[in-house]
Amino acid sequence: MDVQKLFERYNRKYFGGKLPPYTVEISNKYATSRCCKAKRTIYLNEKPEKMKVALLHEMAHTISRSGHGPGWRRQMARLQRLGAPIPKSEYQSYARRNKIDPCREYLEEIEGAAMDAPDLPIHELVQSFRYDKGFITIEGVAETASERRFLREALKVAKEARTLFEKKNHGA
Ligand SMILES: [Zn+2]
Repeated sequence: MDVQKLFERYNRKYFGGKLPPYTVEISNKYATSRCCKAKRTIYLNEKPEKMKVALLHEMAHTISRSGHGPGWRRQMARLQRLGAPIPKSEYQSYARRNKIDPCREYLEEIEGAAMDAPDLPIHELVQSFRYDKGFITIEGVAETASERRFLREALKVAKEARTLFEKKNHGA
């Protein structure tokens, strides 16, 4: 399957040709498929029969924030309405999961951001994210115990994602 050609076809068909050029690679560089905005590269790590869905999934990421929040799900629903080969379960399961655990959605966004902006110091990244989500006051204080817990978790996830990213990029 020529995934690069497929990207170009889907771009014309479902995005009005407006997506910027991306390199599409079949690769096991990451544990799952991934869209790296910084490198304008989509890595597909998928069985052949799931390749098309995975590509469309990642293409939807190119024009929404990292993670599987409402912006990404809107894109997926739009693609599906246009007749793209996406089962509804591909994005509805994320909606259900995120409803049960909204923090998970934020953590995924942080994880993506840590890899998309590899030069931004982790603390700054999490800090800007905290303001963005309203988890801290203007003085930078988390007001409740659950917010503090979430922020600790966010810092941990971002650090792990960054370490993994650096290993993959500078290692063997
Ligand atoms: Zn995704």
